[in-house]
Amino acid sequence: MSDVNGERLLADLQALSAIGGLADGGVDRLAWSDADLAGRRWFAKRMQEAGLEARLDAALNVFGHVPGTTGPYLLTGSHLDSVPNGGRLDGAYGAVAALEVLRTLVESKNPIAPLVEVVGFSDEEGVRFASGLIGSLALTGELDTAKLGEAHDWRGVPIDQVLAAAGREVDRLVDAHQHLASIAGFLELHIEQGPRMEAAGIDLALVTGIVGVHRQRIQLIGEQNHAGTTPFRLRHDAGRAAARATAGLYELVQSIDGDAVANVGFMQLEPGGVNVIPGRATFTLEVRHLDEATVRRIVAAFAERLQEICAEEGCRIESELLSWVPPAPMDPTQVEILQQACRQLDREPARLWSGAGHDAAVLSRHVPTGMLFVPSLGGVSHSPREATSDAHLVLGARALLRAVERSAARIK
Ligand SMILES: [Zn+2]
Repeated sequence: MSDVNGERLLADLQALSAIGGLADGGVDRLAWSDADLAGRRWFAKRMQEAGLEARLDAALNVFGHVPGTTGPYLLTGSHLDSVPNGGRLDGAYGAVAALEVLRTLVESKNPIAPLVEVVGFSDEEGVRFASGLIGSLALTGELDTAKLGEAHDWRGVPIDQVLAAAGREVDRLVDAHQHLASIAGFLELHIEQGPRMEAAGIDLALVTGIVGVHRQRIQLIGEQNHAGTTPFRLRHDAGRAAARATAGLYELVQSIDGDAVANVGFMQLEPGGVNVIPGRATFTLEVRHLDEATVRRIVAAFAERLQEICAEEGCRIESELLSWVPPAPMDPTQVEILQQACRQLDREPARLWSGAGHDAAVLSRHVPTGMLFVPSLGGVSHSPREATSDAHLVLGARALLRAVERSAARIK
């Protein structure tokens, strides 16, 4: 069989990384910035040069397929946007590799080619409007435009103004949903963004599922008082209560499940004076695991421990759920297809869950979805130092080609 052109794949990745490229090797293609829009136009143009029909939908997702076809398609790709000062592979690799795969199928006149569509999703990262996966949520009809319509970026620019500059409207983002009926499955190739594969010497990994993410804001209310005249035993120190509870977080999580992770990424003491006992402590708690019951157990155990501490410190607790994203198991058939594709290349893939969110999590709720990882050097991502060896980049695309052939053959 004909195989992907590795040199062309690497050259395309190089060309895309120059759009929004930074001197330190990183890229800045923040969602719907000039660089991001230029990246989308470049991707559409590369599709057209490959003889494909390309289009930017109502949510600025870029799609490409064999001209004259209407689906149903096996969709493959990833996102084209990046975090500020991010890496050149996160998202871009899966999109460019998908293009290389379909280009190879077209060039070799493979009868499967008309059943495959390539996608470069819009605003997956969610940095600009604190709301990610916008492109895939719009495609699947899950996007809440009423909430999103009020969003501003950190410069205070309203989202409708940002979209208007790109020729789009917030209320019309949902039009992207019309295309979902034409999609029969989804495969996403991505860099691991973590250290596990490199440490274990693994070339390819099947993603079994994407973790559920619980986010909560907790406020402890104590009693603001003079830090010089109030003896310890008479204090109701909200800062001390928050510190005690959060300092034990790792041990508490580990005692429940060795694979779970949690994070306190924000903490604020009020009023915030060097000589004032904090009357209020506010912090966030994030918990991630592939199993929903495990997440619930950790959240409940933390709440119980917090209750004990606050009883001792004389503080009151107010807690608010910020968001809950359920775990997204991948489709067993697509995982099996990806495994066979890896074995065709004489590689026995590992099975990993993903601790980071991906468009595949959204698609998995609607169509049979699978995901494949290649290793990240040093486990670094969301950084200019993000890298994967050329050999692994080409290997991942070769595996994707074989999986796409097998998966698309099942359509109809
Ligand atoms: Zn990504």
